[in-house]
Amino acid sequence: MAESDLRPLEGVAVAVVGAGIAGLTAARKLAKAGAIVQVFEKSRGIGGRLATRRTEGGPIDHGAQYFTAREPAFKAWVARAKLEGAAASWAPRGKDGEDDWLVGMPGMSGLVTALVDGYKVANEKRVTAIAEADGAMTLTFEDGTTIAGFQRVVVAVPAPQAATLVAPFGAPFERIGEAVMAPCWTLMLALDAPFDPGFDVVRDQGALQWIARASSKPGRQGDTLVAQASTAWSREHLEDAAESVTADLLAMLAAAVGPLPARRYEAVHRWRYALVEKAVGETFLLSSDGRIGVCGDWLVAPRVESAWASGDSLADAMVARTLQAAGA
Ligand SMILES: Cc1cc2nc3c(=O)[nH]c(=O)nc-3n(C[C@H](O)[C@H](O)[C@H](O)COP(=O)(O)OP(=O)(O)OC[C@H]3O[C@@H](n4cnc5c(N)ncnc54)[C@H](O)[C@@H]3O)c2cc1C
Repeated sequence: MAESDLRPLEGVAVAVVGAGIAGLTAARKLAKAGAIVQVFEKSRGIGGRLATRRTEGGPIDHGAQYFTAREPAFKAWVARAKLEGAAASWAPRGKDGEDDWLVGMPGMSGLVTALVDGYKVANEKRVTAIAEADGAMTLTFEDGTTIAGFQRVVVAVPAPQAATLVAPFGAPFERIGEAVMAPCWTLMLALDAPFDPGFDVVRDQGALQWIARASSKPGRQGDTLVAQASTAWSREHLEDAAESVTADLLAMLAAAVGPLPARRYEAVHRWRYALVEKAVGETFLLSSDGRIGVCGDWLVAPRVESAWASGDSLADAMVARTLQAAGA
């Protein structure tokens, strides 16, 4: 096999926008194919909705709570993550369904750390525009700076943000508008004293769609709770102040589990684009010349596995398109 078949993107400059599991999965695969990959992420950390808040009362996962692995390729990847200590099984009291529940280690965001391999991530770099000129693409950032010279771009951000960034590239990206994403207000508590409501997880308690003793996950310290408001409640209260949402969610939680002990840490997080309500129904979208593509859970389903599969397949398609163009 020729060297160019093993590393078909050798020396090709690639920008990946978004350091969630979809973007980092694509980045790793493209780097393995020889590309010079740079990931740009608007926030200070990586993982996106695989998010862990470090608090004085222990770590709290405030985005995805757990994930499952159904397809062979993702199962194999998870098996490796488990061996490397980046994932573990979680069997909470109240678990439903037959699937093995999995969590990142030592927090959900830990799941993606092993994906940062062969490329760099630039944090606090929000991409505001992507433009093409003279056969290469230029990224513009929130602070007005630009970086030019990318031969491929992967956009791995939630649908509404992706739509804005790839609008100049026309079809097939018009389909992004088909995705609908739902918000989720999430309450995080670290308690002063041990607290056992008699379950580790429970769904659908009034306007709370999920309550978890977050500290029942493997390797977590402290006594921590997470409560997620339903989509309907989160939509209705989307623009409410954090203080009033905290008071509302605390009252709903106390109604479900009884009086709460004193708190060492108490905060809410508003996920504006939390869960996919309607997916596009494709694994990824790629321009006809194969040079710019989008990936993410919102193309497939509201699951970590779907985001991974979307990033993985987009990278494969970009490599295949390059091989085709080279006449391999
Ligand atoms: C509250 C909640 C509960 C969930 N529960 C579960 C669950 O139980 N099981 C499950 O399987 N899944 C669950 N999910 C869904 C799961 O988290 C997602 O499917 C998955 O993490 C999506 O990964 P992604 O890479 O597609 O997107 P994201 O994780 O959203 O990554 C996108 C990244 O892009 C960055 N970004 C956005 N715009 C820009 C920009 N302009 N420039 C640069 N960077 C940008 C973001 O900061 C983010 O880091 C949950 C999600 C939430 C929020």
